[in-house]
Amino acid sequence: MEFQTTINTPFTLSGPGLHTGKFTHTTIKPGEVNSGIVFCRTDFEGGKTIAAVADNVTDTNHGTTIANDGASVSTIEHLMSALHGMRIDNAIVEVDGPEVPILDGSARLWVEQIQKVGTVQQNAERRYLHLKESVEWADEASGIVLKAEPADDFVVDSTIEFKSELIGRQSARLTSYGQYLNEFARCRTFVFLREVEALLSLNLIKGGDLDNALVFVDKPLGDEEKTRLAALYNRDKDSIKVSNGVLNTIEPFFDNEPARHKLLDFMGDIYLVGMPVKGHFTLRCPGHRANVELAKLIRKLIIK
Ligand SMILES: [Zn+2]
Repeated sequence: MEFQTTINTPFTLSGPGLHTGKFTHTTIKPGEVNSGIVFCRTDFEGGKTIAAVADNVTDTNHGTTIANDGASVSTIEHLMSALHGMRIDNAIVEVDGPEVPILDGSARLWVEQIQKVGTVQQNAERRYLHLKESVEWADEASGIVLKAEPADDFVVDSTIEFKSELIGRQSARLTSYGQYLNEFARCRTFVFLREVEALLSLNLIKGGDLDNALVFVDKPLGDEEKTRLAALYNRDKDSIKVSNGVLNTIEPFFDNEPARHKLLDFMGDIYLVGMPVKGHFTLRCPGHRANVELAKLIRKLIIK
């Protein structure tokens, strides 16, 4: 028998959010049996709680946002992924602002803190959603197809496709939770340089930096652009370099790091079912909107 699990003692990580740039403190505390993952905005009088379930998702543009009763928390996916991947069934997530810190753009620091404080088994059997039928969400126009089929374990086969030689078509596969720690948790988010300025003009990615994303550059970088980027990221112009198509001082960990990061994101979003799922997921071009829509369809199987 598997038991529900929570963390041993609270811990806090702090930093700016990717989109708002607002500096917040996020504290993870042990949660009661059968309570699931519950966020709390502590900067509201008396605190406002938001259950981490797909029904509470209000936005999926460039990240996943949950909200309840006028309070929201954005960019929850990497933290949710860490909690899912590390098998935390119950936890309280206190945030004193509108967005979870982006940290290094992966789930690594959350995972390291969970390892550091340790986990405890609780006095109740772990709940699973066992898929008894196949569920699919597709958007023909954008080529997205996410399929969930009954299985004895949680298995994900994911393929992404970008119209860029730098990424192209990539796949990643997770067949056991044991792989999450070493093969997925540290895979960072990614963006194309051409998107960076568009996002900035939308007042997004204010907390972005050259250390918390793989920035792909698919055209030669001119001197003028280098100067602008140096100013944007508060760097020395000579430190703005492109190696193997990546604008950064950081090296990718894996050739298929983007596909692995998309699988990491999926692990976070699908945990919004409210419990782990036993099922085989086959994903083509996953993204937050599609992931959350699939989680909603699966949640209907619990509720009906
Ligand atoms: Zn992500």
